[in-house]
Amino acid sequence: MYIFVNGKIIDSGSPAIKVFDRGMVFGDGLYDVIKFQDGNFVFLEEHIERMKKSANFFGIKFPYTLDEICSIGHKLAMMNDLKEGELYLQLTRGVDVIRDHIFEDDYDPTFVEIVQPVRKMDPSIWTEGGKVLTYPDLRHQFCEHKTTDLLPNVIAKKYVRSKGAYEALMFREENGRKYITEGASSSYIFFDGEKIIAPKIENILPGITRSKVLYVARETGIEVVERRIWLDELPQMKEVMLLSTLSKVLSIVKVDEMEFKKGEVAKKLENAFKDLVISTLVKM
Ligand code: PMP
Repeated sequence: MYIFVNGKIIDSGSPAIKVFDRGMVFGDGLYDVIKFQDGNFVFLEEHIERMKKSANFFGIKFPYTLDEICSIGHKLAMMNDLKEGELYLQLTRGVDVIRDHIFEDDYDPTFVEIVQPVRKMDPSIWTEGGKVLTYPDLRHQFCEHKTTDLLPNVIAKKYVRSKGAYEALMFREENGRKYITEGASSSYIFFDGEKIIAPKIENILPGITRSKVLYVARETGIEVVERRIWLDELPQMKEVMLLSTLSKVLSIVKVDEMEFKKGEVAKKLENAFKDLVISTLVKM
């Protein structure tokens, strides 16, 4: 597989990342995943903007323009013979001389682009809906950024998959009451019979799919409320939907032992989202 690392396209088996790269020793970096299909990127600009904003927040230099990232991705897709797939971007602060928590302000960042086939999903999930398990959100307070330090996310995902579920529905606690945050690699929204309710952005990722689906919901005349959602409200919800770049709009039919309908609203939003994707594709 051909990958891009700091200005060069190389074979993925070649040595390319230094051991003292701060991404390697501290998880001091950011990433993003963008879907491409039929020679087009999906919401590329929005993903890059999110990454740039976070790079600015953490004081990491952002070395390439949108057009450069686009043309590197295009080249990689051609070289790897992929018409459809995932573009993975990773940006780290750069390389230290020795391992040291303290960083200066003048690092040259490490920038990686990878294209790979879309990770396989069991196709029955689209017809039957997904099952998820609640799991404590054990992450830090920087979850509004797509940081590379994903250990709590991968542990949550591994746990739920070992129990036959598709994704975790993570929660935090305040004064003994649990509230819903997000998935290990996805966002959630709910339909209470009248309106869409989305967990507000308080230490969760502002998902691109989430913002697009909330947009199409409003456009189709569905009221949208963004607020904290307590786990004990879940039994009153009529529909549960999982959202992400790869899962798109996925109906959730089971949360732990609680069952939900594969509902009409999810179907409507899934179709409206699909139309929005098609109408806004970015040529590679
Ligand atoms: N939350 C987390 C923690 C994620 O990792 C992801 C997937 N990148 C999402 C939400 C969904 O974000 P997006 O719609 O931008 O893919």
